[in-house]
This record gives sequence, C-alpha cells and structure tokens, in this order.
Amino acid sequence: MLKNIFVLLLAAGMPLAGAAFDEVPLTLKGERTQGALLLGKTDPEASVELNGQSIELTETGYFVVGFARKADLNQQLTVKLDDQQRQENLVLTERDYRIERVDGVPQRTVTPDPEQVKRTRKEAEKVWLARQQQSAREDFLTTLVKPAEGRISGYYGSQRILNGEPRNPHYGEDIAAPTGTPVKAPWAGVVTLAEPDLFYSGGTIIIDHGYRVNTTYLHLSSVDVQVGDVIEQGQMIGKIGATGRATGPHLDWRVNWGNERLDPALLPTLYE
Ligand SMILES: [Zn+2]
Repeated sequence: MLKNIFVLLLAAGMPLAGAAFDEVPLTLKGERTQGALLLGKTDPEASVELNGQSIELTETGYFVVGFARKADLNQQLTVKLDDQQRQENLVLTERDYRIERVDGVPQRTVTPDPEQVKRTRKEAEKVWLARQQQSAREDFLTTLVKPAEGRISGYYGSQRILNGEPRNPHYGEDIAAPTGTPVKAPWAGVVTLAEPDLFYSGGTIIIDHGYRVNTTYLHLSSVDVQVGDVIEQGQMIGKIGATGRATGPHLDWRVNWGNERLDPALLPTLYE
C-alpha cells in the first residue's frame, strides 16, 4: 500500500523534501589536506558556503576553495539549492612539514635601516593590493603546465627554527635552475604585479587566474610582462634569477586562494 503511494508520487513528479534520490549535486576534486586547493562543481543555481563564508560559482557551477598551511582539519561545506541543503564535513589530513632546528646561531645585532623598513613596507602593500585584484576568469579549470624545468630545491610549509625561534614558513616551491632559464605561465591569466626589483623577492610577478586564485614568481632576473597584460598558458613571462634575498638562482613560485597560501605541489592532483 505504502509502496503504491510512493510510486504515484514519483509518477506525478512531485518533489519529496529531503529524499535521497533528489540530492543537491556536488563533486569535489583534489586532495583533502592542509595547503590544498579543491575544485568543486554543483548546480549553477546553487549557493555554496565554506564555514559560513559565501563562495562564488562560475556560470557553469564550478568553484574553488583553498586551505592554509595549518588549516583547521574540520571544514564545513554547505550547498543550498532551492529548498534543499547538502552539508559536507570535509576532514583534512594533517601535513607533516619539514622543520629544521638550528641552534648556536650568533644573534644578529644589526639595527634595521629606517629607509629599508620604509621601502619594504611600501612593497608589501603593493603586493597585498595586487593579490586583492580578482576577476571572473576561469583559467584554473585547465590542467596546469610546469612553470620551469629544474630540480625542486625548496618545499611548501618547511620552516627553520633558529635558536628556538620559529622563522616564517616557506610558502613556495623552489625550482633550482641556471639564471636565464625561461619561466612560463602555468595557466592563462592577467598580470597584477610586475616589479623588476623588490627588496626581498627581487624580480616579482603576480598573475590573477580568477575566483581568488593567483600565482607569484620570485627572484626573477628578467620580468618580461607588464601589469594588465593578458597572458596565454605556457607564455614566457620572465627568466630565473637570484635577485632580492636569494642564495642562488632559483624560481620560488607560489599559489594563493585569496589570502590563503597553498602548496603548488598539490595542484596537479586536481586534474588527474
Ligand atoms: Zn623559496
């Protein structure tokens, strides 16, 4: 008897609130771990929230979310469509970053040069402003290409502890290669910063790829693009160098989702 009513309702196309067969669509790609970018897809008419913060969708229903180096391991993704709601508890795995303890380092007694302090503050503001520029580009939907050929010499998340004092973690992936080695755009995008000589990072480029995703390239010997340039995937944007505070020629490249710094090494898993 009950079964017959159910069949009748189905035949009439009546929606059953909360019924399992009429779920809000959601697919999520990428590794669920700290430092990761996840690529999601749902109905274009849906609304998405990460821990209560609204996430923008592309016209076809794609979205991206990113998790910081030490992000909370429990993340709440909510997708609402019409009167239905889908709640996903994303449990991230905890990363084990390389930590190097160095003791007995002579304490530096150098007083910072006020001119240098002024300069680095100004530069940090420029970089911050460039990162706030976000468009509705969808470059991140395409499989990325490697920005440079070379040996990986530095890892995201690693940190040195000098005389018991933790230094800033390293947020990029370092690729060691000779000065002059071409650096290519891993995705298409728009250049939001192109500086030949910043104090810490030397020749520096920032590219916006849309929906808060941006990438950064540091220590370049040559910056071959300008702010506002629309670049193609694989286009040469500059050359590897050792400018700024670098001990040898290498590319330090970084990926951000808004102000969250992510691990470039995890990006290829998005497109597998
Ligand atoms: Zn580096």
